[in-house]
Amino acid sequence: MKYEAVIGLEVHAELSTESKIFCSCSAKFGAGINTHTCPVCTGMPGSLPVLNRQVVHYAAKMGLATGCTVNRLCKSDRKNYFYPDLPKAYQISQFDVPICENGEVYFYVDGEKKCCRLERIHFEEDAGKLLHDEIDGTVVDFNRCGVPLIEMVTRPDLHSSAEAKEFLETIKTTLSYLDICDCKMEEGSIRCDVNVSIRPEGSTELGTRVEMKNINTFSGAVRAIDFEVARQIDVVEHGGTIQQETRRWDDVKLKNTVMRTKEDAQDYRYFPDPDLIAVEIDDAWMDKIRSEIPELPVARYERYRNEFGMTAMEARQLSDSFAKAELLDAAARSGKVKPKAAANWILSDISKYLNDKAVELEDTKLTADKLIDLIVLIDKGTISGAAGKKVLPAMFETDETVEAIVGRMGLKQVSDEGAILKIVQDVLADNQKAIDDYKAGKNVTGFLVGQCMKASKGQGNPQMINKLLAQELVKLG
Ligand code: ADP
Ligand code: MG
Ligand code: ZN
Repeated sequence: MKYEAVIGLEVHAELSTESKIFCSCSAKFGAGINTHTCPVCTGMPGSLPVLNRQVVHYAAKMGLATGCTVNRLCKSDRKNYFYPDLPKAYQISQFDVPICENGEVYFYVDGEKKCCRLERIHFEEDAGKLLHDEIDGTVVDFNRCGVPLIEMVTRPDLHSSAEAKEFLETIKTTLSYLDICDCKMEEGSIRCDVNVSIRPEGSTELGTRVEMKNINTFSGAVRAIDFEVARQIDVVEHGGTIQQETRRWDDVKLKNTVMRTKEDAQDYRYFPDPDLIAVEIDDAWMDKIRSEIPELPVARYERYRNEFGMTAMEARQLSDSFAKAELLDAAARSGKVKPKAAANWILSDISKYLNDKAVELEDTKLTADKLIDLIVLIDKGTISGAAGKKVLPAMFETDETVEAIVGRMGLKQVSDEGAILKIVQDVLADNQKAIDDYKAGKNVTGFLVGQCMKASKGQGNPQMINKLLAQELVKLG
């Protein structure tokens, strides 16, 4: 029998707000243990939460970017459970009226466009963290308690680990385009729960699902899904049935084990939080949020392929980075340079510089205007392509114009025919042996061009040197 995998994801993203969701503590990652805490986020009796407006703004922004209906009115609910990293013994989340519902996320898998529907997006608070230490035992760090999250819940529309991975990548690039999450996977900024079932190929009914929680890398999600699909097929092929359960994925041992079965599933006893009023988003606010959404990664990807004629890989690499895509589009919009030329610089030398120095484009001094100037100087023959590469580092690091850098580094190409001809003639006069070789039928062009470049201190226009050299050699017979 052939089986189809059915996968649904619950993706948690930490929002990059300054302060936490219900208090004014910093939401920054990496501070000393329990230094970002107050009576509200440590759940002291009598303390009251006040909702951070930015959280609503960011959650609605993600909803609009993923085609969701953003509810004008939504509310907060308590999700009750006990765990040492949750001092209130309930998490403030959203239950029956989330901020966003019914979205659609489009993405490409092996050149094919796919859609995964979103059931909902809601906002909620993160829990603290338990730090296990052999000497001190277990320490609870409440810094993460109250850091704002959005949870995006998909419909069970994904059918392979590859689809799940591309969906997750698209969520990540969308969050980064919207500038609402720092997307630092190593700091746990994006985590997901994966739900997996199988069914006979062709069937439209859903099978019994198994959930694996809190997976913090996309490659880990791929491994967890692949393992679980294979495990379920194996169980069914051996006459067994799949139990609805939560299993713990171990990304080191590469297997999962039962954590909780349906019988001991948690009863969260959701109810509206009496300390928080309903949230209303009026038209003006909704318009403001909508106006902040840039052209999104998949739309750019398609435009780069269709209008700029880029390969799938080029279009993907450029559209994956908001800063690179903006740089490309600004250069293309100027009409002064070919989009392809700008794209080549961004994909090769600019990306290499950013990788080597481990810096973000937006933290450097490179601007679209500088990139345009560089390409124009090369197109006009003022500098060579090779000289362009030498100019680039200073373009990232200084406020100088490209012209000024070229001047300071003495990289202006000599394209004056008279001056080049003089160099060619001098080189020929100094290289009688090469001329003899030439007359004997040997190819000496490469050598002589090299000598001319050297004589011009690397600044001679190579096309012109080639042309004039050929002309002079012909004269020698
Ligand atoms: P819960 O709130 O208990 O986690 P939900 O019904 O909200 O359960 O579903 C959570 C996730 O599980 C969703 O992403 C959904 O798409 C996915 N899901 C539901 N049923 C299945 C199934 N049969 N196979 C795979 N995924 C499923
Ligand atoms: Mg779940
Ligand atoms: Zn606090």
